[in-house]
Amino acid sequence: MQEIGHWINGQLVKGTSGRFADVMNPATGEVQGRVALATVEELDHAIAEAAKAQVGWAATNPQRRARVMMAFGALINENMDKLAELVAREHGKTIPDAKGDVQRGLEVIEVCMGAPAMLKGEMMDSAGPGIDLFAMRQPLGVVAGITPFNFPAMIPLWKIGPALSSGNAMILKPSERCPSTSLYLAELLQQAGLPDGVLQVVNGDKAAVDGILDHPVIQAVGFVGSTPIAQYIYGRAATNGKRAQCFGGAKNHMIIMPDADLDKAADALVGAGFGAAGERCMAISVAVPVGEATADALIEKLIPKIEKLKVGPYTAGNDVDFGPLITKQAQERVLGLIASGVDQGAKLVIDGRGLKIQGYENGFFVGPSLFDNVTPDMEIYKQEIFGPVLSTVRAGSYDEALQLVMDNEYGNGTAIYTADGDTARDFASRVNVGMVGINFPIPVPLSYFSFGGWKRSAFGDLNQYGPDAFKFYTKTKTVTARWFSGIKDGAALNFKALD
Ligand code: NAD
Repeated sequence: MQEIGHWINGQLVKGTSGRFADVMNPATGEVQGRVALATVEELDHAIAEAAKAQVGWAATNPQRRARVMMAFGALINENMDKLAELVAREHGKTIPDAKGDVQRGLEVIEVCMGAPAMLKGEMMDSAGPGIDLFAMRQPLGVVAGITPFNFPAMIPLWKIGPALSSGNAMILKPSERCPSTSLYLAELLQQAGLPDGVLQVVNGDKAAVDGILDHPVIQAVGFVGSTPIAQYIYGRAATNGKRAQCFGGAKNHMIIMPDADLDKAADALVGAGFGAAGERCMAISVAVPVGEATADALIEKLIPKIEKLKVGPYTAGNDVDFGPLITKQAQERVLGLIASGVDQGAKLVIDGRGLKIQGYENGFFVGPSLFDNVTPDMEIYKQEIFGPVLSTVRAGSYDEALQLVMDNEYGNGTAIYTADGDTARDFASRVNVGMVGINFPIPVPLSYFSFGGWKRSAFGDLNQYGPDAFKFYTKTKTVTARWFSGIKDGAALNFKALD
């Protein structure tokens, strides 16, 4: 069995705690490896070494740091197949989807190749007589990234790129369910020229996370994961005087107006609802058709498209649309939620329970499921299901649909399908959600914008990647400088006695 350790000072090292977590093959249900869970002592060592390495890295000029990002980007491209395989093997997503995972992370690295332009400060010359003011953006020191299982490449890259290109060192604590991709990314960064110690990958669980949150050297924590943990980490990091941005869970709605192109809306719902088995924080999990006729027509269009979906292991290649859930517990939780939807009176139009795949009977698969007549008091509406389950909540009017989205505790992403520009503009302007799609189902902003939700989908006041990330990973120092009249005025050509 494969034993997975840590990446410390430019080397793979074994864990010493004697504690491990199983790394599963979600398609077979078998344990395929075990990942070491760091002790606080191992963490402290990694942080102390990172602090030493950070001094030289911060003093390296920004363009040279950006060149490391350039070489890193090239290596990611060269090793795309291997990275996608690593992602798929531990997560279970299909190879094309795993490549998308790597690609959306790579795009953030591409922006970091231009980091010097983002790190330029501000300047006001002659703010007073002989007085100039300038503001510098300086690295924070050692920062931490704590990432979830569902994007094993993308989210670590969202953290690593801006943090390192800003001159920080980083302790990356990936999800213990999918640890291998982060270790390989660290190896590629070393090949790209990153000095040893600037990126330390420490695998672990709550003990390592709490160690990070309490460590006085750690200046900032970038977290992505479920809402309860995001809130916990934000509170503990902030109490300890650290900067924190903590991105949490979601319940993303798509409103379908009566004038929408229903074929396009149905295709978008199938992709956004069931892609990656629904294990995306930007998945659409609630369809909100406006008007009974729209709802009936939409359901009719959805049924054959959903029934056609193929579920299986990533090794089946293009024959598979989505794979298994991440763990047995996740599978059981989703099956339990589907049962609760039935019990609470929703109409289960397509039932994904009971799916068995020959040769993969112990895999954590759930088939695609479609609910109609869901109401906001039901558990399937209240909870983030994080599985291949699409709920339909019928709305009587646009205002009712908008209110439903507004009243939801989460505010990560939302979308509207309509042919009417006025409705779309009104929605984008009024909705209290961080990322909005107009005839676009998964509005993850491109990497030169920034990503972040509202309400209980994010804690902290800056978004991740894009311009916000460079603000998050640097602190501002403002200098007011006065220069008195000097040799410029005193220069004289005549020969005179010294004062
Ligand atoms: P999770 O909260 O279980 O784990 C995230 C990280 O926190 C992992 O590194 C894990 O080791 C650590 N962790 C888990 N329990 C902890 C505890 N008690 N104390 C301290 N640390 C702990 O999340 P997950 O299941 O890996 O990921 C899925 C969740 O992430 C979903 O809710 C999804 O919506 C969310 N997510 C959000 C975004 C976003 O940008 N908003 C992106 C991707 C995923």
